[in-house]
Amino acid sequence: ETLPVQDHINLRPLGVIRTPYQQKFAIPRQPNLVDAASGEIVFHTEFSDPNMLRGIEQFSHLWLLFQFHQTVEKGWSPMVRPPRLGGNKKQGVLATRSTFRPNAIGMSVVQYDRVEHKNGRLSLHVKGVDLLDGTPIIDIKPYVPWADSIPEAIGGFSAERPTLMPVYFENQSAKQLAHWQANYPMLSVLIEQVLAQDPRPAYKAEQDSDEEYGMSLFDLNIRWRVSAKANYVVSITHNHE
Ligand code: SAM
Repeated sequence: ETLPVQDHINLRPLGVIRTPYQQKFAIPRQPNLVDAASGEIVFHTEFSDPNMLRGIEQFSHLWLLFQFHQTVEKGWSPMVRPPRLGGNKKQGVLATRSTFRPNAIGMSVVQYDRVEHKNGRLSLHVKGVDLLDGTPIIDIKPYVPWADSIPEAIGGFSAERPTLMPVYFENQSAKQLAHWQANYPMLSVLIEQVLAQDPRPAYKAEQDSDEEYGMSLFDLNIRWRVSAKANYVVSITHNHE
């Protein structure tokens, strides 16, 4: 007996997530490494029924399923080079968490924060996201510790939590930070946590140079350099300056 072939399925995103991350570079490579990164899932009108979220506050953590929308058009490869392997060794795409996978589906465990429902606009606030601003959210489920956490599991090439690098604010950036902190109270912790991950491409991390790096968080441009395994924040300016 042959099964009917269903080679297409339809998905309707529930909404989009708003996050501080304006570009792929410097986003942490997994969730919960940067708990200062908050996200707000804003539900589309057809999914704006607050009953859908009733009881969700009982859970400390949630699974988010989403699409890697910024790279989905680039397609996928059977083999990819995970940054954790130094960016020069290949591994089967399904043996990694790479974005370049068939269907471009991502999954992240995040912390539940709160539900907001105002003037018909429904949103869910979470913490510890590793998602680009505007990422379409396909599904949300509670994280169930007895089923989803397996302490004796073996983590392959990604067995260890990445080590952290210290972060220092140089004179100018410390002043700028104090100024922007009024708009973004989490800014200093967010910058520290993001840079502590050493977002540089793996091949750069092997050589010391005075090169400056830049990233956008919210509408701010953060510039830093790396010296002797420490990050030095050089400046924090508005993106339009
Ligand atoms: N935790 C998820 C998973 O395992 O499916 C994501 C892991 S993936 C290695 C994390 C990286 O995806 C981030 O560092 C960022 O560069 C990238 N990313 C995040 N949101 C994206 C989006 N909407 N489109 C394309 N790439 C994205």
